[in-house]
Amino acid sequence: MSLFRLSDVSFGYDPATPVLHSVSLALEEGENLGILGESGSGKSTLLRLMLGLAAPDDGVIEADGSVLDITSRRRMQAHRRFAQPVFQDPYSSLDPRMRIGKALAEPHAALGLDGDVGQEIARVLQAVGLPQDSTARRPRAFSGGQRQRIAVARALIARPRVLLADEPVSALDLSTRVRVIDLLSDLSQEVTLVLVSHDVAIVAALCPRLVVLQHGRAVEAGATADILSDPQHDYTRMLLSSLPRLPRPEQETAR
Ligand code: ADP
Ligand code: MG
Repeated sequence: MSLFRLSDVSFGYDPATPVLHSVSLALEEGENLGILGESGSGKSTLLRLMLGLAAPDDGVIEADGSVLDITSRRRMQAHRRFAQPVFQDPYSSLDPRMRIGKALAEPHAALGLDGDVGQEIARVLQAVGLPQDSTARRPRAFSGGQRQRIAVARALIARPRVLLADEPVSALDLSTRVRVIDLLSDLSQEVTLVLVSHDVAIVAALCPRLVVLQHGRAVEAGATADILSDPQHDYTRMLLSSLPRLPRPEQETAR
């Protein structure tokens, strides 16, 4: 059973200007999915719909084997345990006044989770590689990369099956970026990741599956390795060619 299945999903903030056009995709357990596209292509909107923050105008989203009905409190409570977000900017996703222990305890209570909250906090701090005494500090005591670890820890409290990460390393400096990517890679053992990015290299490092989004349309989808070695769509080729760091010797000589 797919973790997520989107079938012909369309959506517009204003119905007159659709942002997503008939997008279909599936997320399978253990197969991290990258969503690649330029700024404004609808990546964050797609994640919002998968989180249940808005409903499609058309089409169906299934999660964990059933239709995601965002008008059902009960369904949404279950969905928040199933899929958790990680956002781009850890500075704005953490309350600056709240000590880390409280920031981690809060979702545990709000989601009505089982288990001892202290043990669960210890578990997620360990999972993201932060010291246990982090609980007593506030966000400003941490670097950008550490704050993003805290945001990931907060998501992991729910023991979700899926992490929906929206440009999770874009706000970080380069050296920190690598370490957070390593963390997300390690977590792939226990959660399946949907990773939104405009950066091909990050998607290639973490995601065996890929959907390329252009102006709200999924123009290419499949195995990341296949798409990167033999892109079928002009837009994908354009995204790849805008990445000078990616070695692509065959393509260079083919031009
Ligand atoms: P991406 O994450 O790929 O940059 P977004 O999903 O943020 O793309 O945006 C897709 C389109 O939807 C853009 O044209 C953007 O201006 C529009 N959009 C995004 N958020 C809103 C909103 N809250 N209200 C109206 N339009 C929005
Ligand atoms: Mg975005």
